Formats: sequence, structure tokens, C-alpha cells
Amino acid sequence: MSERATLFQTLMTDLNLGKTVQSIIGGVLCDGTGDPITLEDPYTQTTLAVYPDCGADLAAQACEAAALAQVGWAKGTSAARRGEIMQDIATAVKAHVEPLAKMEALIAGKPIRDCRVEVAKVIEMFRYYAGWADKLHGEVIPVPSGHLNYTLREPLGVVFQITPWNAPIFTAGWQIAPAIATGNGVVIKPSELTPVTTVALVKIAEDAGLPKGLVNVLCGFGPTTGQAATQHKAVRKVIFVGSPETGRRVAVAAAQALKPTVLELGGKSANIVFGDANLKHAALGAQAAIFSGAGQSCVAGSRLLVHKSVHAELLDMIATGMNSIKLGDPMDDTTEIGPISNARQFAHVTGMIKGAQGEGANVRTRSELPNTGFFVPPTILAGLNNASTAAQTEIFGPVATAIPFEDEEEAIAIANDTNFGLAGAVWTADLGRAHRMSSAVRAGTFWINSYKAIHVSSPFGGSLNSGFGRSSGTDALMEYTSPKSVWLDSGVTPKIAFGYVS
Ligand code: NDP
Repeated sequence: MSERATLFQTLMTDLNLGKTVQSIIGGVLCDGTGDPITLEDPYTQTTLAVYPDCGADLAAQACEAAALAQVGWAKGTSAARRGEIMQDIATAVKAHVEPLAKMEALIAGKPIRDCRVEVAKVIEMFRYYAGWADKLHGEVIPVPSGHLNYTLREPLGVVFQITPWNAPIFTAGWQIAPAIATGNGVVIKPSELTPVTTVALVKIAEDAGLPKGLVNVLCGFGPTTGQAATQHKAVRKVIFVGSPETGRRVAVAAAQALKPTVLELGGKSANIVFGDANLKHAALGAQAAIFSGAGQSCVAGSRLLVHKSVHAELLDMIATGMNSIKLGDPMDDTTEIGPISNARQFAHVTGMIKGAQGEGANVRTRSELPNTGFFVPPTILAGLNNASTAAQTEIFGPVATAIPFEDEEEAIAIANDTNFGLAGAVWTADLGRAHRMSSAVRAGTFWINSYKAIHVSSPFGGSLNSGFGRSSGTDALMEYTSPKSVWLDSGVTPKIAFGYVS
């Protein structure tokens, strides 16, 4: 067994999991029944584990377990108690930050220091939504008929959540916390390439008091396991985080059963730098925007729009900065950028860079790379326009396409000339311009003199190929509940004159 496979086994034991990857259904760790799936360490490119696809039968059992547990959670547990249990879960996750972060770093190839932050964010998410559990209520509406009319915000029932490989435990906490705070049962399917921290999170939550069966994790393939859960009759809503192509397929499958969806998809966000910006800050911000997480972030600043007056200077600053970024083993505390998370994505990113060269890009990159792993160096593609494939396609790697612009109007036109609408940023010293840009650029999240700041209390989501619906904040509470309008006739006068639904 390789050193990394041994580390994997140690972490499985630390996280109270079995010897191999198992789904968690009705509170029980279960072996799948389908085709084998290989977990590969993206740094050493060695096999960590092989496990079977969960399969459609277990997916159905998970949906049924969630439906059963949800009734007790929504009707038999007070809202205040649900909040207390969620606080206990947050405390229990806090006690497991190290093994969770290490497991994430090992399997996803993400630097351990980033993984620690992401686990801390999961703790924050459970605490934030724990606070909301007993504060969500309806309203009384002064209808003209004299009825007492009030609304209730009811849980949906069972929700099915599908998550990608780039931030597995973060995305799991992001979606599970608001779903259970509002009284729902959950079935979640992480990417088959990075399932373990989601299973571990749910196991920790159950040990901290989460009713068994309320949250179930399916470890398996999308087209088999995922498809079966999407179509199961107990599932009332599908929340999908992933690529536009798969999102479309999932939304179509859900729509056939008239199930609503939330789609959190990709992006091609414009990071816009004006000549009056603090260029040192803008250069650092641009690096963080596209190179952190090896660019495997839906909000990555993958189009760098720079005013002509500072274009050459800013690109030189970024190119110099590239050489001091520490690339290396994700398990090393000092590593700033790890490898690309998996072989398929590595092939996509390297193929996109080759394609850009073919389109005439001037490629600015660093030559020094670690000896092993799916590493792509921080890269800037210059000399292309916004119509190029590199500027229009999500690369999901540490690769920005730099495009010069003349004035505000042109910057806005370029920023909005994309099929996405997820995020964007502007760097400028002119406050009026900052507000004009934030209003004109199509994006669900927009930063001024900053990039990538997010918080669970603030809404997040996109439009067009970036999806629809919102996660985080109070918007997620709305996504995971539906309003019921209740009419009470006081009996004082008959209400037959108007306003009845025929
Ligand atoms: P994919 O779209 O390939 O996969 C996402 C998830 O969908 C995986 O769990 C996948 O399983 C599953 N899936 C695939 N087919 C089906 C199906 N027929 N039914 C149900 N589930 C299915 O995305 P990636 O994992 O490659 O992630 C990268 C993408 O995610 C990028 O485009 C990125 O921008 C986006 N993303 C968006 C975020 C946002 O909030 N907007 C946040 C993070 C990432 P399997 O792996 O087995 O195929």
C-alpha cells in the first residue's frame, strides 16, 4: 500500500468511517452495488481507494429514509431544538477540523490551509442557520374579506442535492445547513471523485444528535445513482451545483416530474481594472481571483479586463507575482496552489491552453513545476479578444484571459458579452464609477476593490448559464420552504361576495 493510501486509511479511522468509501443511508454505512470507482490522489497520482457505485436501489432507500425522518424532524422536533442540534453539529465539526481538512486536501488536491478555512466555513454555516431555525415565520395579511389570513413557511419535504468536486465539504455544508434548519430531509450526492468528507460530515452530525436518516449521502455516479434520486417520487426539489451541461440535463429530468430546481453553475467572470486603481492591490486581487484553488472556482476571475493605460504594467506585475507563488503538495502547510483535482479536468485545462496558443495567444506562464501531480502553472493568455474560445469557455483552471479596453462603456460591453452571469469585480479609485460598474455588469455577486469575499449571510447565485435560484442568506431559507396561505372565517358575516377561487 502506498504512503498516501495508508494516510487515507488512517484518516478514515480518525473520521470513524469504514475501510472503504460507503454511502450513508438511514444512519447506516452501506456498500454500493455498481461499477467500481477509483479515488486517485491528484498529487502523487496513486490510487487511494476503489469502491462500488452506490446504485439506483440504494438511492431509492435513501429517499425513503429521508422522507420518514423528515416527518419527525419537521413535526416532532421543535424549531428551537432543531437549532440546538445544529449548534451541537457545529461544535462537533470544530472538533474534527484537522482530519476533515486533511482528507479534503488528500482527495481533492486542495492546499490544506484552504481546506481548514473551508471546514471553518461549514461550522459558520451550521451556526448561522441554527440561529434561523426558530426565527422563520409567516405573516398576517389584512385581506379585505374579514377573514383572518396568515401564512406559514413549510418545509418542502425531501430535497436532493448534487455537488461537484472542487469544494466538496464547503458545498455540502452550504446546502445541508439551510435545508435542515427549515425542516427538510436531505439526500446528497457528492461528486464520485470526492465523496468522503461529505460522508464524514454527516457521520459527525449524526454522532452529535442529527436524527439518523434525515441526511443521506450517496457515493456514486451521476447518470446512475444521481439520476435515480432525481426521479424518486419522495424528492420535492433538486439543488444542483456543477457544470452548465450537466445542470441542464438534471433540470430536464427534474422538470419531467415537475420538480423545481436550483442551479448553481459555472462562470466566466470579468475582473475589471481601471487606470486609477491601486495597481498593487489590483495585481494581488487578480492573482487571488484566478490562481487560488488552482482556478477551480465557479467565481474565478477568468477574464481580466484591463484599461489600455495600465495593461502592460499590470500584466508584468502579475507575471512577476506568479513566480513567487508556492506550488506543491496539498498536504504541506506552506503550499498555496495544489494540482488540478483530477485527470479529466487536467486534460481539459491543458487542452484549453493549447487551443488558445493555436488561436494566437501570447502565453505568460511559469516554467517551474513540481515533479508529480496534475499541475498547471498560473497562466495569463494575452493577445486574444473576447470572442476567442478561451474568453468564452469556462476553463476552471489557473488561466486568465487578459483583454484591454478603452473606456467604461467598452469594459461593460466586454464584461456582459458572455453566456454567464455569476460574478464580477472592478478596481478603481472613483466611487461613482464603481457604482456604475456594479449596476451595469450582469452578475449575481460583484466586488469593488476586492475579489472572492463571500459569507453565508449574503445571497449567492447567477443567471443565464450560471444557473438560477439563490443559496446562502435568507434567500436559501426561501428556496427550502414554500408558503401556505391559511384563511380563517370568523363566522361574523358570510364572505361570498368576492374573492373566491373558482
Ligand atoms: P459536473 O456538472 O460534471 O458534476 C456535478 C455533479 O453532478 C457531480 O456530482 C456529478 O456526478 C453529477 N451528475 C452528473 N450527471 C448527473 C445526472 N445525470 N444526474 C444527477 N447528477 C449528475 O461538474 P463538476 O463536478 O465537473 O464541477 C465543475 C463545475 O461546477 C464547474 O462548471 C463549476 O463552475 C461548477 N461549480 C459551480 C458552483 C456555483 O455555486 N455556481 C460552485 C462550484 C462549482 P459525477 O461526478 O458522477 O458525474
